[in-house]
Amino acid sequence: MAQTAASITSLIQPHLSQLTPYQAGKPLEELARELGLTDAIKLASNENPLGPSPKALAAIQAELASLHRYPDSHAYYLKEELSRHLGIKVQQLILGNGSDEILDLLVRALVSPGDEVVSTAHTFLMYGLLTRAVGGVFRAVPLRDMHLDLPAVAQAVTPRTKLVLLNNPNNPTGTVFSRAEWEAFLAAVPATVTVVLDEAYIEFADDPEVPRGLEYLAEDRLLVVLRTFSKAYGLAGLRVGYGYGPSELLDFLNRLRLPFNVNRLAQAGARAALEDVDFLERTLDLVRRGRDFLCRELTRLGLAIVPTQANFILIRIGRPGQEVYQAMLREGVIIRAMESYDFPDCIRVNVGLPEENERFLKALKKVLGL
Ligand SMILES: *Cc1c(COP(=O)(O)O)cnc(C)c1O
Repeated sequence: MAQTAASITSLIQPHLSQLTPYQAGKPLEELARELGLTDAIKLASNENPLGPSPKALAAIQAELASLHRYPDSHAYYLKEELSRHLGIKVQQLILGNGSDEILDLLVRALVSPGDEVVSTAHTFLMYGLLTRAVGGVFRAVPLRDMHLDLPAVAQAVTPRTKLVLLNNPNNPTGTVFSRAEWEAFLAAVPATVTVVLDEAYIEFADDPEVPRGLEYLAEDRLLVVLRTFSKAYGLAGLRVGYGYGPSELLDFLNRLRLPFNVNRLAQAGARAALEDVDFLERTLDLVRRGRDFLCRELTRLGLAIVPTQANFILIRIGRPGQEVYQAMLREGVIIRAMESYDFPDCIRVNVGLPEENERFLKALKKVLGL
């Protein structure tokens, strides 16, 4: 029986008709297919320029022969190691197919249709997307001077608010909030609202004023901190992230998640990556040096940049970012246009290897006629 498009639309839950798919950074393979460019570089998804941790690679290789077996659905060893690493109980941990999955579980567990999720404008696109996917109302509090305005976020909480989602450092601005701002915020938010602190980029922050969610973890506080192996640990393609929070709440998320959500290779790779301290140190050193270099050079070119504590830089270019993005593609440099983040005249670039940073600058100068 043939279905017409119109009749399928009428079958779908009404709130889903407003959804748009997540726009990911353009894969290198796609650029190769479209423009035949095989020596292109990608500085668009805040990935690790050093590649995966060598110890993780070796562990993944050793795991390959067991791929006919289901993974441990409870990821016993990875959780044990994380629990030791962080000094928290195993029950205070949850693992996900990327930290994105944990966000999804939180939203599905807590937000009913019509409930509110409070976050900020110009932040990670998944927050709004996941909220709308369950029929929730997403409240985006404006930034203040490009920074998260935590007093305004606390003010925006209403009796219908179930979740507050904060990203520190924030993607795509790279800005951070301080310990003092964070503590005042925690004191101001009602105890019945779950606060999620997404620390996807926290490893790159070197400002001592930046709070670490771990220090605020408590069984009687509705705070969930999200971390990922996708950025500093170089394992974006493996899909593994984790969260910590009160065990009673995480127990519900665990009931909601699909079994085997973190696959065998991901469990083995993440365990090895956690131990690869040398790789993490090399990554942080490379990224911080590259960040200083790029910020200095971009400022010298007269471009307005936002001070960043992450592994990427938001650049205001004073013309449509989409045009610059397209022109940069033709130079074989994949960056990110920012109109989906409501910054139509900005681009975002992540720190690459020194030669990639140079190539980005050269292409940008050419494209902007500087
Ligand atoms: C990259 C990123 C993540 C991590 O996503 P994974 O699903 O763990 O790959 C989470 N939050 C933000 C803000 C990010 O930019």
